[in-house]
Parts: sequence; structure tokens; C-alpha cells
Amino acid sequence: MKLILLGPPGSGKGTQAERLVARHGLVQLSTGDMLRAAVAAGTPVGLRAKDIMARGELVPDEVVIAIIADRIAQKDCAKGFILDGFPRTVPQAAALDRLLGDKGMKLDAVIELRVNEGILLQRVETRIAQMRARGEPVRADDNAESLAKRLDAYRSQTAPLVDYYAEKGSLMTVDGMMSIDEVSAAIARILSAAARTSATPARKGKKSSSASRPSAKKAAKGGKAAKKSRKAAKKPAKPAGKKPAAKGTKKAAKKGGAKAKSKAKSAAKSKSKTVRQKATRKGAKRARR
Ligand code: AMP
Repeated sequence: MKLILLGPPGSGKGTQAERLVARHGLVQLSTGDMLRAAVAAGTPVGLRAKDIMARGELVPDEVVIAIIADRIAQKDCAKGFILDGFPRTVPQAAALDRLLGDKGMKLDAVIELRVNEGILLQRVETRIAQMRARGEPVRADDNAESLAKRLDAYRSQTAPLVDYYAEKGSLMTVDGMMSIDEVSAAIARILSAAARTSATPARKGKKSSSASRPSAKKAAKGGKAAKKSRKAAKKPAKPAGKKPAAKGTKKAAKKGGAKAKSKAKSAAKSKSKTVRQKATRKGAKRARR
């Protein structure tokens, strides 16, 4: 199983990744942790990244891409991994596509943890208090000023990945405002739906990605957590990019003839655009809340 957890700082990616490691024996690949280790060890990468990280800015793409390329090539990643904090830019996502393609691997799911920004500072403050209570050193970027920068970086450089993966049909959204257990349950449903899909041989003439839709939908529907998730995030745990064809589209295409087919095509196009525009407006509304 190869997954990406996508979400702003404080959305719970690290916590959920740790749970997935414990439950599924996957390897957690956190570029933040790797960079912090490099800073602590004083390696050339660490020296380059130290001040950038403390300011809450993103480390250059080529640095993190090289780190991930090395790490994915290691034996323990063959079984599966969770990318936590990578990719964070579209060029990083494109590099990951190439890296996985070269190894004949593919992503099973990209899970976006959607949260209201208002809660993030509070969550980071809680994390600082917990680290202090455990006697652990507090991260250099866990302060209000750096958090504001990290959120800016997320909005401008990482949020476009939501559309990037939605277009590919691999994005699933979970309401990250739910309790930790509820988020874990929603993720577990997504993963078991994805596992069922990859175990089902694709029918002739049918793309396996479209075959995943019914089970993913079912996964999203099950349980109280998903109900809450739907309420807040409206379309949780549902591939966002590949919309069903507009009503009447298939009928028109069936009638045959180039004219009917092109009519059907443009109907589907305009419908999918509207749905996407609606989703974008809803997303912006949620972000403002
Ligand atoms: P994180 O622990 O994921 O919050 O990451 C902490 C910091 O490490 C970020 O604010 C960035 O400065 C840097 N970082 C981690 N992952 C990446 C990445 N994929 N691309 C660029 N910078 C990163």
C-alpha cells in the first residue's frame, strides 16, 4: 500500500501516519522528520535546510526529491509506505510520479485531511505543551510566526496538489475536524476499499480506477464518523476528479452519430466543470470559516 497524507500543518498527518505504521506495518516517510534529523546531524542537507525550516518556508524541491528518491529505493519500502509531508509542491508530485513509474509502482490513495484553519494554531500550541510536558525539545518552527508562514506556504504551494490528484482520480478527502479515532476509522474504510479494488481484476474495457468508485463511495458512507465527515466536508472519501457522466450523456451517445456523440461530450464537460467550480467555491467557503 502506497499512500500520501495531504494536509496543512497541524491537520493530524503525523498522528494518522503513526497509527497506520502500527496497524499495517507500513513505513512512514516524513520529509520533515528526515530534514530535522539532517539538521541535528549537521549534514550538508541539514545545514542548507536549517534556517529555511525555522522560518517556516519550504526547502528547495531538488533537496527533498533527492531525499525521497534515496529513501524509496531502500528495501523496507518495497512493501509499502506512507508519505507524510511529501509532496508539497506540484514539481515534487510530478517527480514522485516519475520515481514510482520507474519502479513500476503506483499510489493506492492520496488522502487529504481537511481542517478549518482556525483550529491549527490551537493544535500546534497543544503539541508544544505536550512536548514540553514530555521533556522533549520543541521544534524551531512551532511558534505563531513560523506557523503563519507554513500556512501561507501550504495555501500557495501545496493546496494545488488537491486539484492535481483530483484530476488523476486518486484524491480522497476526510474531515480532519473529527476526533483522531474517527479520522482513523474513515482512513481505514478508504484503505480497505482501495485494497478490495486492487484485488479485483479490472473488467475488459473498463478502467480499474472507475471500478474503485463504488467501493470507495461505500467506504465513505459507512459509520457515524463518515456521516459527520460528509456534513463538514460534503464530499469526503470520494475521488474528486473523475465525475460521473452528465445525465443523458450515455443516452445521447447510444443514439449514435458523430453529432450526438459530440453533444454528449460537451454536456459532460460543462457539467463536470460546474461540479468542480461548485466544489472550489465550497472549499473556499470552508477555508474562510
Ligand atoms: P513538517 O514536519 O512536515 O511540518 O515539515 C517541517 C518543515 O520541513 C517544513 O516547514 C519545511 O520547511 C520542511 N519540509 C518538509 N517536507 C518538505 C517538502 N516536501 N518540501 C519542502 N520542504 C519540506
